[in-house]
Amino acid sequence: MGSITLGLGRVLLVRTDHDADLIKFITDLAKRQQIDAATFTAVGAVKTAKLAFYDQQTHQYTEIPVPEPCEIVSCTGNISIKDDQPFVHAHAVLANKDGHTKAGHLVAAQVFAAEVHLFELWGQKLERKNDSVTGLALWDT
Ligand code: ZN
Repeated sequence: MGSITLGLGRVLLVRTDHDADLIKFITDLAKRQQIDAATFTAVGAVKTAKLAFYDQQTHQYTEIPVPEPCEIVSCTGNISIKDDQPFVHAHAVLANKDGHTKAGHLVAAQVFAAEVHLFELWGQKLERKNDSVTGLALWDT
């Protein structure tokens, strides 16, 4: 376990572009605004999406396709540095027209319309490094 303390910087409320990929949009926003660390939430709707489940035994992601329009019921994530670039990590709960949900690690999502609430964090560098126990790139705190 490790932790660092960061200060709250700018708060950005951003409407995404139509048809943007949500992960790429937030990554590009971070690069444009020179944001190295942040937390964010997003609400809105997607046309399609790709979620994933990380198998803790095999250390492989299994894809969960979402091939239909869905509400973004919840999307939460963070930005930190990986390989010297802003890296977006997000999870989402998506609901289809019947209210049925799929949830998981958000790999990609084609936005119908979405709003991102982003809280920039200042202070120390928050960087991801490969973790041999989990096989994931975790915060190096
Ligand atoms: Zn994840």
